[in-house]
Amino acid sequence: MNVDDISQVTVLGAGNMGHGITEVVAIAGYDVVMRDIEQDLVDDGFESIKWSVEKLSEKGIVSEDAETVLDRIDTEVDLETAVSDADLVIEAAPEQMEIKKDIFSDLDEFTPEDAILASNTSSLSITEIATATSRPEQVVGMHFFNPPVKMDLVEVIYGAETADETAEATYEFVESIDKTPIYVRKDVNGFVVNSVLGPFSDEAAWMVSEGVADIEAVDAAMVHRRGYPMGPFELSDLTGIDIGYHVRKEAGRDIPPIVQEKVDAEDLGQKTGRGYYDYEDGGGTTYEAGQGEDVDTLRIEARIINEAARLIGNDVATAEAIDTGMRLGAGFPEGPCRRGDKIGLDTVLEKLETLHDEYDHERYEPSEHLRSLVEAGTTGEEAGEGFYDYGGDDGERHYSTIQYELSDDGLLEVTLDRPERMNALNDDLMDEVVHLLDSSDLDEVRAVTFEGAGDRAFSAGADITGFAGREPYEAAITEFFEAVAEYPRPTLARIDGFCLGGGHELALACDLRIATEDSEFGFPEINLGLLPGGGGTQRAMRMLSDARAKELVFRGEHISAERAQNWGLINRAVPESEFEETVEEFLNDLVYGAPIALQKAKRVMNVGRDQDLEAGLELESQAFGHLLATDDMQEGAAAFMEDRDPEFEGK
Ligand code: NAD
Repeated sequence: MNVDDISQVTVLGAGNMGHGITEVVAIAGYDVVMRDIEQDLVDDGFESIKWSVEKLSEKGIVSEDAETVLDRIDTEVDLETAVSDADLVIEAAPEQMEIKKDIFSDLDEFTPEDAILASNTSSLSITEIATATSRPEQVVGMHFFNPPVKMDLVEVIYGAETADETAEATYEFVESIDKTPIYVRKDVNGFVVNSVLGPFSDEAAWMVSEGVADIEAVDAAMVHRRGYPMGPFELSDLTGIDIGYHVRKEAGRDIPPIVQEKVDAEDLGQKTGRGYYDYEDGGGTTYEAGQGEDVDTLRIEARIINEAARLIGNDVATAEAIDTGMRLGAGFPEGPCRRGDKIGLDTVLEKLETLHDEYDHERYEPSEHLRSLVEAGTTGEEAGEGFYDYGGDDGERHYSTIQYELSDDGLLEVTLDRPERMNALNDDLMDEVVHLLDSSDLDEVRAVTFEGAGDRAFSAGADITGFAGREPYEAAITEFFEAVAEYPRPTLARIDGFCLGGGHELALACDLRIATEDSEFGFPEINLGLLPGGGGTQRAMRMLSDARAKELVFRGEHISAERAQNWGLINRAVPESEFEETVEEFLNDLVYGAPIALQKAKRVMNVGRDQDLEAGLELESQAFGHLLATDDMQEGAAAFMEDRDPEFEGK
C-alpha cells in the first residue's frame, strides 16, 4: 500500500482518541468511517466532532464549512461493513491486549488484503498485536497524542515484522493529515516519548523520597529555571499517579516511596481531587518562581538525556526524532539531545557516574552510546559535535529550531520551526537564523522568505521561559534583527496567524510583509513590564505615524491584518485562498529581479531613511552610477528593446 492509494480510512473506537482521530482525518479531506460497539457511543463521538469542527470552522482554523467536513464521516456499528473497503484502519479501542487481538484478528478477516492495520496503543506491543493477523508486515503503530486535534505529533512504530513499505505509507499519511510523524524503529515499551518522559517524573520522585528536595522546589526549578511547561509532580497529578505506578510495576522497576505513599492513600492526582497537590481545598499547584534555586536539575536531565542516548544506541530512533517527539509530544522547551549538547555530554556522563557510585542503582547506569560519544570527544556544542553536528571539523551545522530550503532559482525559504511554542523566538532560533544568513552564499540567494511552522502563528513572540533569571547584559538580541534587516537580498515575511512581540519585530525587520486576513499583529511586551526590544519601537516609529506606533506599543493590544494594512504596517492582507498566489507574485519580482539593483535599492532606502535628504540623495546617486556600469543594466535595457523578459545574472 502506497500513501496515494489511501482514500478510505476507518477508525475503530469513538472514545476520547477515536473521535479526535476521526475528526483530524476528515478535516484533512479523507472519507472516514468511525466505528464503535454501540450506536450511542458512535453518536456521542460524532456529536463531539460536530461541536469541535463547528468551532474550528468559525474561527477560520478549518477553511471549509463544518457541513462539508462532517459529510465525509460515516458512523457504523457493524465491524465488517465498517472495514470492508478500508485502505487504512486506525484502531483506538480500550488498552487491553485481548481486545486488541480480537479486533486485529477480525480485521484480518474483513479488510481488503492490502489494507494497513494501525493501532493507536500507548503501551502495548505492536509485535504481539500483529500476531493476531496473518499479515504482520502490514501492522504498524500509529500513536496519536491527546487531544489529536491539538497535538501535532504521531509516533509511527515498527513491530518486529512491519514492512518498510507499511511504515513509510503510514508516515506519509500522517504528513498528509498535517501532523508531524517520527519513526520509532523498534517496539520498545513506552515508544519514544513516554520512554524519555519516564525519568522526568521518576528521578524527581526519588529526589523527594530521599529528602534532597521538596515537591514545590523541584516543580519550580524545572518550570522556572529549565523551561519545562509543567513540573514533574504537576504532570504526574495531571496524568494520574497510578498510571506511572503501573508502568513501573509492569516493567519491574523500583517504586519511589513517595509514589507508593500516594497510591496507598489513593491520592492519585487531579482525578481524585488530591495528589502531590490539593485540588479541592488547596486550589492546585502552589510552587512559585524562586523556590527551586537549590535543586540539582542536572540529576533529572542527565537521566532524560541518558534515556535518549540509549534509544539512539539501540537504533530505536534518531536524535532528531527524539527531539521532535519531546518538543511536540511533551512540550519540552528543546529536545533532550539538543539540551545534552548544550550542557556537555561529559558533564552528563560524570553526573550519572557520580550518582551510580553514590546509589549503586541501574537507573544511573550510563548508556553505551553516551559513553562512546564522550570517548570520541564529541561532547556537544562546545566541542563542535555531540548528538548533533555544529559545524566543527567542517561538518555541516544541524539546525534544531529552523528549517530552510534553497531553490535553484535562489529563493531561500526559512521556516521558524517551533510550532509547539507558536514559533516563539529563543536563543537557538535566533542564533541559527544568524548562522544561516551569515553562511549563505550570496551568489546563490536572490531573496529570502520567513514563515512560521504549523497553522497558528508566524511567531507569537519571544520565548519568555528563556528570559527567567537573565542578566540585563545577556539580552543581546539585536544581532538577530540586524542580521535580517541588513541581509543584502530582499526579505519577505509570509504571515499566517499571530505575529506578535519578537515575531512582529522579525516581520518588521523584513523588507516586505504579506499576511492572511485572519492574522493578528501586536506588541504585547508592555503587559509583561517590557518594551519591544528587537527594534520594534524604532521601526514602528519610522513606518507608522507617531500616534499609531505608540498605540501599538503603549496599549499592547492586537490589531487585525486589515488595520495593519491600512496603517501601512504590511504590504497586503489577503484571504487565505489568495495568500500563496499573492506571495508568488511578489517573489517573482524579487527572485528574477536585477540582484545588484535590488541590493543597492535596499541599502540606499534603509540607510537613506535615517539621513537628511541631501545625504540620502547623494547615496542614491552613487548607487545609480554604479548600476550604470553593470551587465544587468545592459541586459535590462536589451530585454526592454527586444520586448522579452530579462535574465539578470547579478554582474
Ligand atoms: P476510550 O475508553 O475513551 O475509548 C475507547 C472506545 O473504544 C470506547 O468508546 C469503546 O466502546 C470502544 N470499543 C471497545 N471495543 C471496541 C471494538 N471492538 N471496536 C471498536 N471500538 C471499541 O479510550 P481512549 O482514551 O480513546 O483510548 C483508546 C486507545 O488509544 C487506547 O489504546 C489508548 O491506550 C490509546 N491512547 C490513549 C491516549 C489518551 O490520552 N487517552 C493517548 C494516546 C493513545
